[in-house]
Amino acid sequence: MPLISSFDPWQNGMCACPRKLTFNPYSGCDHGCLYCYASSYVQNFADCRPKKDHVAALRREATKLKGEIVSISNSSDPYPRMEANIGWTRLCLEILAESNCRIQIITKSDIVTRDDDILSRTPCAVALTITTDDDKLAKTLEPNAPSPTQRIRAVQDLLAKGIPVSVRIDPIVPLVNDDPQTLIATLAAIGVKHITSSTYKPKPDNWRRLSEAMPKIAEKLKPLYFQQGERVGGNTLLPKDLRLRLLSNVRELAIARGMQFGVCREGLPKLNTAACDGSWLIPPAKR
Ligand code: SF4
Repeated sequence: MPLISSFDPWQNGMCACPRKLTFNPYSGCDHGCLYCYASSYVQNFADCRPKKDHVAALRREATKLKGEIVSISNSSDPYPRMEANIGWTRLCLEILAESNCRIQIITKSDIVTRDDDILSRTPCAVALTITTDDDKLAKTLEPNAPSPTQRIRAVQDLLAKGIPVSVRIDPIVPLVNDDPQTLIATLAAIGVKHITSSTYKPKPDNWRRLSEAMPKIAEKLKPLYFQQGERVGGNTLLPKDLRLRLLSNVRELAIARGMQFGVCREGLPKLNTAACDGSWLIPPAKR
């Protein structure tokens, strides 16, 4: 199995991403998000471990790149807490920055700003996930991740260095974080040009975590997902009209502030005003 592989999550026809590759520097993740999907298919997910034994393979695969987008990462966060000490993702970035590729970083961590020297000399964009601007709510939703305040500061710092940044308001959980008005106003004011959003899709283990942490909310969501909801390609989704309403609200808020907008795995590509994942922000490859 190559380390840098084709990005094609679940092959269920709901992904509208442009063609790209993906690379996960870590297996597992320690942010502990209630809604995490990856925890349902990566073994020992909370036991976050760097793929340090694979550095020679990464160097070999990197030499074969031909200007593709490499998305880092999609089944884990490339900046878990240990990254601040061990710098494994940083080493991977140094290797990839020497190759012929364009980099997309997807993270919830402000540790990414440490690597702004590499990112500012490489065709890249950072997608920071910020699901709410309420630090207290985020502590419940994403208990071990840096606070929204820290993440918003990271967005500012990256933009100040000329590194393109999009923000993922992802996922929207009805009755929890479904009105991102103040968050979008803040992001627009600091210069963010693209928002990606999606709705929460329960899997057995993330539903168990959410039900334990927010029992009253879960009771209200249960009929929406499990009686009135849709089943698409192995996913359980909210009813289509509700998804359309929630995501159109985010879309209108973004467009009103001059931002582009895309939805992630919703089967609603007509809502997209640009490449859904914000990859249009990545400059062309250098060679
Ligand atoms: S940051 Fe991503 S991979 Fe890590 S726990 Fe949260 S949702 Fe899962």
